[in-house]
Amino acid sequence: MATLTLDERGIVATCASCGRKNRLLYERLDHQVRCADCKAAIPLPSEPIEITGSKDFDRIVSKATLPVVVDYWAPWCGPCRMVAPELVKVAARNAGRLLVVKVNTDALADLGERFGIRSIPTLAVFAGGREVGRTAGARPAADIEAFVQNTVRPVHH
Ligand SMILES: [Zn+2]
Repeated sequence: MATLTLDERGIVATCASCGRKNRLLYERLDHQVRCADCKAAIPLPSEPIEITGSKDFDRIVSKATLPVVVDYWAPWCGPCRMVAPELVKVAARNAGRLLVVKVNTDALADLGERFGIRSIPTLAVFAGGREVGRTAGARPAADIEAFVQNTVRPVHH
């Protein structure tokens, strides 16, 4: 499976057909993209994306056209290891509907501090550039999906 990375403008995904790297723009994550070389369809992001810097985090939560589920975790945290495969399922089952990103609060202590993360795992949902929900503790994929749905459900007028 292609590993997804981030740059200033979007998510960089490797074409499964020809190996070319293609950028999925943050502003157009709900659009199907075709490989610039071979025109094969680039799958929408379907795996958790590890955040490697707070600038990447700020860009993806402020610009992404999809809700972003943030997993605050650390390598020494047992419950975090339990929730990790559940988040893989959530990302795979909800490609094109949401993004899953992971923030290692040991490596990115500035983000943990800025958002006041006191226990891990903590799951937060960002939509429209702001945090709209947060919950602490490990839970199965179906519960995570229900949490996200309840958090980002559009308001009906
Ligand atoms: Zn290609």
